[in-house]
Amino acid sequence: MTCTGRDRRFAGLAALTLCLSTLTPDSAMTMTDPEVEELLDKAAELHVRAPWHESQEILEQLRPFIDEADIDRYARFTIMEARNRVLAGHMNDGLDQLESLLTLDLPLPRRIRTLALAANINLVLRRYEETFDQLGQALELVSDPAGKEYSAGVYSLAANLYAQVDQFHRARHYGHLGVEAANAHAGPRLACVSFQRLAFVYKSADIYGLGLRHYRTALEHCRRSGDDVLISVTQYSLADLLREAGHYEEAASHFRESMQRLETTEYASGLAEGRLYEARLHHVLDEHEQAETLLIATLEHFERHQVWNYLAEAHGLLADIRGQRNDHEGAVEHILAQIEAREAHLGLDRARRLAFLEVDFDTRFKESELALLREQARVTALQQQTRRQQRQLQQLGYIVAAFLVPVLALLLFHAVRERRHYRRLARHDGLTGLLNHTHFFKLAAEEMCRTEHEGMPFVLVLADIDHFKRVNDRHGHIAGDRTLVHVASRLRESFAGHGIVGRVGGEEFGIALAGTRMADVVELLERLRHNLSLPRPEDDKVKVTMSFGLAGRTGGGTTINALREEADRALYEAKRLGRDTIVCHDPKQPVSGK
Ligand code: GH3
Ligand code: MG
Ligand code: MG
Repeated sequence: MTCTGRDRRFAGLAALTLCLSTLTPDSAMTMTDPEVEELLDKAAELHVRAPWHESQEILEQLRPFIDEADIDRYARFTIMEARNRVLAGHMNDGLDQLESLLTLDLPLPRRIRTLALAANINLVLRRYEETFDQLGQALELVSDPAGKEYSAGVYSLAANLYAQVDQFHRARHYGHLGVEAANAHAGPRLACVSFQRLAFVYKSADIYGLGLRHYRTALEHCRRSGDDVLISVTQYSLADLLREAGHYEEAASHFRESMQRLETTEYASGLAEGRLYEARLHHVLDEHEQAETLLIATLEHFERHQVWNYLAEAHGLLADIRGQRNDHEGAVEHILAQIEAREAHLGLDRARRLAFLEVDFDTRFKESELALLREQARVTALQQQTRRQQRQLQQLGYIVAAFLVPVLALLLFHAVRERRHYRRLARHDGLTGLLNHTHFFKLAAEEMCRTEHEGMPFVLVLADIDHFKRVNDRHGHIAGDRTLVHVASRLRESFAGHGIVGRVGGEEFGIALAGTRMADVVELLERLRHNLSLPRPEDDKVKVTMSFGLAGRTGGGTTINALREEADRALYEAKRLGRDTIVCHDPKQPVSGK
């Protein structure tokens, strides 16, 4: 035995364990084909006669070896296991196993059997599309001579299916083909199924006589097959038709027998269906308690497997029973459940869900609309609040502005004044108010430049108070300061309209004159000297004289510094000449006087 088996779903953990164990030399873990065959036969027998888990026990023994068995044995194993799962109520699991099996290259009889069983399960699950598809495949296979001996089951299945979808003529056609094939090729088991299906066709068409006759024939074949599931299902179907036909006593006895047998098989779906059929009879016979017990026992199964029509019927019968007992509340509950199940059965569940969703959506929409409105209201309130706050702020702003504007204006005024003050301080001499040294020469240079192109005369005068030290020494610094202020005042009077005046040293002043000839400057200086000589009431004892050095622009390119040097030399010359005099730098035109 190797561990390279086909990809089969049901090899399972046990097989894996076995595979691992067979890697060790343990010949006790192998099983010959005849041994496998023997166990499969045993399982097949139990499968028919005993409750599903008994055959399943044999299958579990086989499981470790089945992956290595041939495809036919593997298919037999899987079909039986799938059917056991269905019998245990795990329909989808069983169906999955079969569908998986159908993907393998199965021998014809196994493929037909698998298709038929899968179609049966799908029919029970009301998956008609899949049922028809598998039925079609199976019908095709049995039309082949090789598949003829398996045709009974397939035709019966077709009969049942067409009866369920109210295609009576087709159903009857396949039903009769089924029983013919069963009589010709099959054993009692398939004959049982074929007659049962044919009976069902007539029952569906309310043809009780033929229906009952075929059920009875079916039951005979079933009993011969020994399959308890088949016997029970056929028997309660017969019982139900007997009830419909009004043969209550015979119906009751068949129900009793079939349900007893069915309980031993643990065929969950059959048990539920049988109980519902039997409850119908009890209901007709007004045996409410028995009916109720049976019905309640079915609800869970029908709900879980979504057998909506049976669930609706069970709830309907229960509602009727509760109503007759004046349990109106209970009756209403079951009626509602019946309506729900019936809606589901009629395929309205989707529409109902949609309607519910629409209502739900509508509600949610309304809720969101309300939420939106609430939000809008909140926003409006916030806006109003904001506007109120803005108004308050505005009012506060007005109030603040009313106070603040004059304050700010005052501050601004002060700032501007301060700025002016400091600017003035930066440019002017604090004592005399004349331009300071730096600013005087800066402005003088600019004025010199500005007037150069026009050929204007430009004269720089440096004026120095004579023996000023003596003034300080004799009259004190304050008198000295007053003298400085006085001199500055005289200078301003004399030259403000003509040029720039600055204090360029302690007791030294500068005068820059553009557009005034040297002779005119000398004249103006003479007048100044005269004014300075006039007595002053505040300092009548202080006599002030000044010496003046002049330098004039002689041509283009003369700088202020050059003029300054010449004027300085002239001033020095004036001092040297004895002070209180005017000396012009140009010696060719000496302008001086005393
Ligand atoms: P000279 O005729 O040669 O110019 O003699 P002077 O005494 O005027 O010249 P000197 O340079 O010897 O003295 C200048 C004096 O001016 C010295 C200083 O105390 C005084 N001085 C300078 N600035 C001020 C000032 O702002 N206030 C006062 N009161 N005195 C000043
Ligand atoms: Mg001096
Ligand atoms: Mg001096």
